[in-house]
Amino acid sequence: MTDSPAPTTEIQQPHDWRPDRFMVIVAHPDDADFGPAATAARWIDAGSVGWLVCCTSGDQGGEDPDADPAELGLLREAEQRAAADVVGYAGVTFLNQPDGALVNDLVLREQLVREIRTFRPDAVLTQDPDVLIHPGGGINHTDHRAAGIAAIDAVYPAARNPMAFPALARGGLAAHRVRRLYLFWTAQPTAWVDVSATIGRKVDALRAHASQIHEPDGLAVRIGEWAAEDGARIGTSAAEDFRVVVIDDDEEEAAAVEAQP
Ligand SMILES: [Zn+2]
Repeated sequence: MTDSPAPTTEIQQPHDWRPDRFMVIVAHPDDADFGPAATAARWIDAGSVGWLVCCTSGDQGGEDPDADPAELGLLREAEQRAAADVVGYAGVTFLNQPDGALVNDLVLREQLVREIRTFRPDAVLTQDPDVLIHPGGGINHTDHRAAGIAAIDAVYPAARNPMAFPALARGGLAAHRVRRLYLFWTAQPTAWVDVSATIGRKVDALRAHASQIHEPDGLAVRIGEWAAEDGARIGTSAAEDFRVVVIDDDEEEAAAVEAQP
């Protein structure tokens, strides 16, 4: 929460680094599709392998107090799997934590370390936990903040420390160094990825969340408008923005990130 972003008229370089393997960690089904889906699709199209982890199954994502949360959770898992197929993820894991009550505790951290050490991503994408109130107004859901900080704590230091959760290493899941974090829904963007070729896939993925999205055509327009705003930062028709954190020393990328506002 330091420098304000540069004026929107200032054109930045598009962010071109691509991880060979990346993991998206989110609180709910549909978060990844409202979030970095078009970037994920771009990277997958270029040869990356992506994996999605949903901490909850979104079992409180409705308006009916008499609805069966377990049934809703199963429906939302199916919707998320269909959306993940549209984006091209290699797979989805649901950690089955309680919707609306996600907590960054050691149980969740161990679950995430297990996922990271199993899939071994170069980059982890997650929700920026520093955002309590979105810059445009609106409260960032408690589960989003919990998922983001849990993902960060799992990436560093736990996943790379062989003595953290030693039963995992003894069971064959060796320590793993995630090289960088991409935080989305951030108030402090440092990187803009050109998604002009894949923004349609993001909209198609969102349409799979039929229990949550009741006016998909209106949503498609809004998604396009938001992406166009970010696209203007790099002189393209659509972009997604991230706060990139380079964890391991990588001089080329660190210099590129620092050159951003
Ligand atoms: Zn959510």
